[in-house]
Amino acid sequence: STGDSLPTAKDLSAIFVPAMRAHKKSAFKSVMGDPTSAMINMAGGVPHPDTFPILQLQAKVKPLGSGNEGKRPRDTIVLNKSQRCQSTESLDELLQYGAGCGVESYCNFLQKYTQLVHRPKYSDWGVISSCGNTDAIGKAVSLFCEAGDSILVEKWTFPGALGSFAAAKVLPVPVDMDGEGMDPDSLDRICTSWGEAHPLRALYLVPTGQNPTGATMSFERRQKIYSVARKHNLAIIEDDPYYFLQLAPYSIGESSSINKVMMAELDVQQADALVPSLLSLDVDGRVIRLDSFSKVLAPNLRCGWITAPTYILDKLQILNESTILQPSGLTQGVISKLLNDTWGIDGWNRHLCELRAVYTYRRNMFVCMVDRYLSGLVEYVVPSAGMFLWMKINLGSEGSTNSSAMPQLLENMKKCGVMMAPGMPFCCDTSSNSATSPEHYLRAAFALVDVNMFEPALKRLAQAIIAIHGIQP
Ligand code: PMP
Ligand code: PLP
Repeated sequence: STGDSLPTAKDLSAIFVPAMRAHKKSAFKSVMGDPTSAMINMAGGVPHPDTFPILQLQAKVKPLGSGNEGKRPRDTIVLNKSQRCQSTESLDELLQYGAGCGVESYCNFLQKYTQLVHRPKYSDWGVISSCGNTDAIGKAVSLFCEAGDSILVEKWTFPGALGSFAAAKVLPVPVDMDGEGMDPDSLDRICTSWGEAHPLRALYLVPTGQNPTGATMSFERRQKIYSVARKHNLAIIEDDPYYFLQLAPYSIGESSSINKVMMAELDVQQADALVPSLLSLDVDGRVIRLDSFSKVLAPNLRCGWITAPTYILDKLQILNESTILQPSGLTQGVISKLLNDTWGIDGWNRHLCELRAVYTYRRNMFVCMVDRYLSGLVEYVVPSAGMFLWMKINLGSEGSTNSSAMPQLLENMKKCGVMMAPGMPFCCDTSSNSATSPEHYLRAAFALVDVNMFEPALKRLAQAIIAIHGIQP
């Protein structure tokens, strides 16, 4: 890693679960040896690459820069059977078993990029590839929590994470939130008064464009949360798939196409304008940062990367050895080629800026329509990242006390022809997730549907809410 003058990470192994403290790399792997040495190595159950039927792989990539289609040659990615292509490994290497930490050129790019964007504050950090954040969440949590343990989470959170905690019999402890995400005082209070036999060791959070609330933690909020985590010696699992979807400030009245001014504005902002990550504040090495290509390339590539102290990555690699091994070499190879050779750092930044412009435009159009058609019917905070608008629904004096009001609203919405996600499945606070709670929320994702559909969707939602006020269907 970089940064010779930086301190090394603190040793958090005391808060690993006992099984993980003892967990060793497979003894078998260590006799497999260095494939480049003169050893005649017959140890591995490894097929010969001459038996791999894929000889070449080509992929066409959309050119960067909107409005220039047709003028520029399309970027083509080529991977060859036995020859490296610039930075990227040959197909024979990509398709062969690897060491479990990921394709080298893929990890090298992400290591370089992490240094540029997050500038970690300790020296012995690294990255390994992941099959996306869902898988990485489960693995990261399993280092610190086993059945019967508890994990601190935002009161509203990603159901995939809740599912993974439930499968491991790890209990979520809800921490209050406001428009800026997790509340540090609430976190401190819970940790200070925690008297249970199983100590709290880990905190899971989504700091940017949070799912479902859309909340983004400010720099000050991140500092406060980090210092509470330090005080109570918590590992932080930073699940940040929307980090690169931070949006330009909200402005109304955009024209019907992505505004060129905004593009230019985003261009200058570049990576420096992003809110610093928790990783970038992490002087101890207590953050395990999870990044995913799902929202910035495509979700079913099933690829991401994990950044953490190297001794923690070693543990995750051991978990990979008995599960995924690593993401598909073809996928990693294509991403590596795209990032290293076709785009480079500049092209990748350019791509991210274009994405931010697309989502800024969508957010602006959506919020503008919510203002127009739902005034008085919903309350919300304009999201500054991601793809979600979280709306508190005003169901009227009748509706707010009627336990069937929310199911009725969903029924009305179905009849009117619009659907959004109800808040309930995202809530891990059993004291407030009952149907009689006065807090009724909907999560609208403005990422997928055609922008022209925002207006009819919100007119329909208004109709469905108003029907509740009068309590007729
Ligand atoms: N099961 C057995 C019996 C094996 O021999 C091997 C490969 N050595 C595996 C599983 C691993 O298979 P995969 O590469 O599909 O994960
Ligand atoms: N974490 C959060 C907070 C998400 O919102 C999502 C996607 O919906 C994921 C993780 C899943 O990411 P991946 O596709 O990388 O598994």
